[in-house]
Amino acid sequence: MRLVTAEIFELVENPRLEFSFIDGIVDSEISEEYTWVETVSQLKELLDVLIKERVFAVDTEQHSLRSFLGFTALIQISTRKEDYLVDTIALHDSMGVLRPVFAEPSICKVFHGADNDVLWLQRDFHIYVVNLFDTAKACDLLSKPQKSLAYLLETYCGVTTNKLLQREDWRQRPLSKEMVQYARIDAHYLLYIANCLITELKQQGTEISCPDDKFDFVLEASRRSNMTCLQLYAKEVEAFPGESAASSLTSRHLNGQGAVSSVYFKTEFQDLVMRLCAWRDIMARVHDESLRYVLSDQAIVALADRPPMTLAEICRTITQADLNVDLSFNSLLPSPSSVVCSHLDDVHTLLQDNISNLNDIFPMILQKCLGSSGSCPLSILNYALLVNCNLKVSLVSKQNMVKSSKQVARKTSRELFVQKFSCKTPVYHNCKIFANDGRLLCYCDRRKLEWYLHRELAKLVDDNPPAIMLLFEPKGRPEDEDNDFYIQSKKNICVCCGEGNHYLRYRIIPSCYRIHFPEHLKSHRSHDIVLLCVDCHEVAHSAAEKYKKQIAAEFGIPLFVSKVVDSKEVQVISGSSESATNDEEVGVPPLQLRTAAMALLRHGPRMPSKRREELMQIVMRYYGGREITGADLEAALLVGMSPHERRRLKKKKGISFKHSAGSILPNMQNNVGCTETSSIVDASEVGILNSSDSTKAEACNGQQEFRKADDDVGDSTIGADSGVDEVNYTFKDSLKSDTHGASNRKGDCIGNSDDNYESRGPSNGTVELNHKKYDGTAQSKHNSKLSLLGHGPHGKQVVNHLLKEYGEDGVRQFCQRWRQVFVEALQPRFLPAGWDVMHSGRRDFGEFSVYNPANKALDLVKS
Ligand code: AMP
Ligand code: MN
Ligand code: ZN
Repeated sequence: MRLVTAEIFELVENPRLEFSFIDGIVDSEISEEYTWVETVSQLKELLDVLIKERVFAVDTEQHSLRSFLGFTALIQISTRKEDYLVDTIALHDSMGVLRPVFAEPSICKVFHGADNDVLWLQRDFHIYVVNLFDTAKACDLLSKPQKSLAYLLETYCGVTTNKLLQREDWRQRPLSKEMVQYARIDAHYLLYIANCLITELKQQGTEISCPDDKFDFVLEASRRSNMTCLQLYAKEVEAFPGESAASSLTSRHLNGQGAVSSVYFKTEFQDLVMRLCAWRDIMARVHDESLRYVLSDQAIVALADRPPMTLAEICRTITQADLNVDLSFNSLLPSPSSVVCSHLDDVHTLLQDNISNLNDIFPMILQKCLGSSGSCPLSILNYALLVNCNLKVSLVSKQNMVKSSKQVARKTSRELFVQKFSCKTPVYHNCKIFANDGRLLCYCDRRKLEWYLHRELAKLVDDNPPAIMLLFEPKGRPEDEDNDFYIQSKKNICVCCGEGNHYLRYRIIPSCYRIHFPEHLKSHRSHDIVLLCVDCHEVAHSAAEKYKKQIAAEFGIPLFVSKVVDSKEVQVISGSSESATNDEEVGVPPLQLRTAAMALLRHGPRMPSKRREELMQIVMRYYGGREITGADLEAALLVGMSPHERRRLKKKKGISFKHSAGSILPNMQNNVGCTETSSIVDASEVGILNSSDSTKAEACNGQQEFRKADDDVGDSTIGADSGVDEVNYTFKDSLKSDTHGASNRKGDCIGNSDDNYESRGPSNGTVELNHKKYDGTAQSKHNSKLSLLGHGPHGKQVVNHLLKEYGEDGVRQFCQRWRQVFVEALQPRFLPAGWDVMHSGRRDFGEFSVYNPANKALDLVKS
C-alpha cells in the first residue's frame, strides 16, 4: 500500500496524461458479444489483455441487502474492443490477479463517480487503483449541468439507461438479459465519454487561460481523480452499537414533526430508538444481514412511537410501517424479517419500560443467540462480538422519568436551551489542506481554505468536501511532529456521549485563564475546544468550576474580587481604616453591589422598607457610607463591568427598566435616567479591597454560560486564525434556585462566572484593586478592560504567577491539568483520535502562519 500511495502522490503531483488514448471515431454502438469471466484461467486471460492496454473502463455493482458490510458482486471492464463482466463472487479468492493492472501507473482506469468503487475494490479484493480518470470529476471541472452517468450517456451517446436496475440483486446467476445490458452500458461508453470530456477540457484550457497562467484542465481533472484513490477503506467503529443510526433517525423524525411536541415523548422515543438500533446492529452482524433487512428505519420509528404490547402487535406494526414506504423496492422483502421473527421476545423485552440496565440486556441477548446452545449461527465474523461484548449504555430509564410539573418545566427549558445555544450548523467542515507533496496537513473549516486561496497561497484541488494544496513549503508535517491529532477528520457529535442532534463548543481550558496565555500557546484551540451536548456541557462546566476553586485555594488567588469601593472615597477609607473603621464595613463585593442596585432600581418602590434599607446599606458601603442618589444607583450597576458588558447593559436597559422608570425610590425620582453617560465614566474608577468574603459573588456560579464563536474549532497547525471576536452569551439557568429573590431575574446577571474580558475596545479609566497576598499594599492598578464581576482577575493572576514561576512549561502543565479534569469528569468516549491530555502544544510556525510573530505584525498593519 505504501508503494501505491507513493505512486498516486507522484500522479497527483505530475499527472501523467498522454490522453490520446482513443484515436479517431469511437464506435459507441454496443455489440451482441461480451465476455463472462468466471474462472481463474479466464481471469488470467483478462489480465493478459488489460496489461497491454493503455486505458480501460471500469464499473462495479455491489450487493448490500443480505450482507452486513456489502460485497462486490460484479466488475464490468471495457476495453476499446470488448466488454468483460467479471463474476467476483465466483472469483472472490482470485481477484488479486488483477491487482497489478489496477495499480499500474502507466495504464489509465476510467470510472464514473469512483468514490465507492475505489473503496469497495479495496475492501473486497485489496485492489488499489492508481491512475484514475473519473468522468464525474471532469464534469465538475466543466461545470456540466448534471454529472450523472445517465445524463452523459444521454448527451454524448444518445443512450438511455434504467438506473432502477442498479438496485437489482446482483448476486443472481445467471444475470437477466436486462441486467447484463445495464451492466455493460455502465462501462462500455465510458472511454468514449472520457474522450469527449477530455476534448472539452482541452478547449476550456485554451479559451479561459491567459497566456501567463496556463491552467491545464485535463491535468487538473486527472489530479482530482487521483485524489479519490488516496481514500482508504476503514470499517466504521461505534462506541455503542447502532449509535449513529439512532441519532440520525431521531433527529430526522423529530425534525419531520416540526416543533418538539412533547418533552416526554422525546426522551422515551429516543430511548426506544436507541435500544432498537442497538439490537438491530448486533443482529445484523450476527446474521450477516444489512440493517435494512433486519428492521427498517420506518419500522423502528413506528415501534418507538407507539410501543406495541404483544408479540402480534409488534409484527403488525412492522408490516404496516413497511407497507407505507417505497413500495417498489421493499415489497420484495419479508416484513417482519426472519431475524425479527426468530427473536420476537427480544424485541418485546426491549420495548418494555422496566429495563433498568441495558448493560445487562445486550450481553444476555447475545449469549442467547451465540452462546453454547444459542439459536444463531456462530461464525468467525460474529464470534468477536461475543468476546468483546463491551456494551456500556447510560440510558434514561422510564422509571426515572420526570413526573412533576416543575420537572416538566425543566425539560421544556432545556429544549429552549438546546435551541438557543447549540450550534446551528455543523462545526467541523472537514476541509482538507495538503502540502505540495500531497501529504495531508490538517482538516479545517471553509474559512481557512478561503484565507489561503484569497492570498493565492494555495489552489483548490477538490470541492466536495473542499480541499486545497499549498503552493509553498509548509514548515513540517503533522505526522513527523507527533501531531497526528491534526490529520483526523472530526465528527460533529458530543465527544462525551456521541449525541449528534445538538452540541455546542466547550472550552477545556477556561477562558479566564486562556485569554492571558502568551499568543503562541493559544493557538491550539482545535485541540482544547470540543463539542459537547447540553447535558455533558453542564457536567463539564460544573467540574471546571469546582476545579477553579481548587486552583484558587492552591495558589492563594481568590476567584472573585472581594470588595470594591468608590475610588473618590478611597483616601477617606484608607485614612480611617488605620484607626477605628471596621474592615467589614468598608467596600462591598462587586456582584453584591450590582445585585442590590439592580433590585432597588427595579423594585425599590414595591419593596418592604426593611429590605430596601438593607440594600441601600450595601450600596452606601460602596460609596463610603454617604447618602446616595438615583444616579449613584445607576452608576453602581456598572461597577466592575468591562466596556463590553456595559455596552450590553446599555442596549438592554430600555427593556429592563421600562416598568420602573421614574419611580425607583420615593425620594429620588428626579435623578433617574439622566446620568447614563457620566455614570459610565465614573464607574470605571473604583477601588477594590481584599477580603475572603465571596459568598455572594459566587451566586453567579450557578449560571451556565455558553458562548458562540465560529472560528475556534476548525483551527489547526498551519493556522489562519483570523481572530474573530467572540460573542458571549450568558444564560441564567432559570432552573437553579433563585438565591437573590426578586432581584435575580433571568438575564439580570450579566457578569458571568468565567470570561468577562473584552479583548478589543478602548480602555476607559483604571480600577483599583487589592490582593493582599500578592502585593501587600492596599491597592493595585488594574486595567478596566477586565471585568471584575467574573473570574477574569483571578485568571490573569494565576497565569502571571505560572509564567513568572515556571515559564511557558508551567502554562503547558496547567493545560494538561485541565484536560485531566475534563477527562475525569466526563470519561469522554468520542474524543478525536490523537487527542491527548499531554498534548504539548509545541509547534513551529511556518512562514505564512498567522501565529508567526512576523505575520501577526503584518496583519495588524493591514487591518
Ligand atoms: P453504479 O455506480 O450505478 O454502478 O452503482 C453501483 C452499486 O451501487 C449498485 O450495484 C448498488 O449496489 C449501489 N447503488 C447505487 N445507487 C443506489 C441506489 N440509489 N440504491 C441502492 N443501491 C445503489
Ligand atoms: Mn454500475
Ligand atoms: Zn453528550
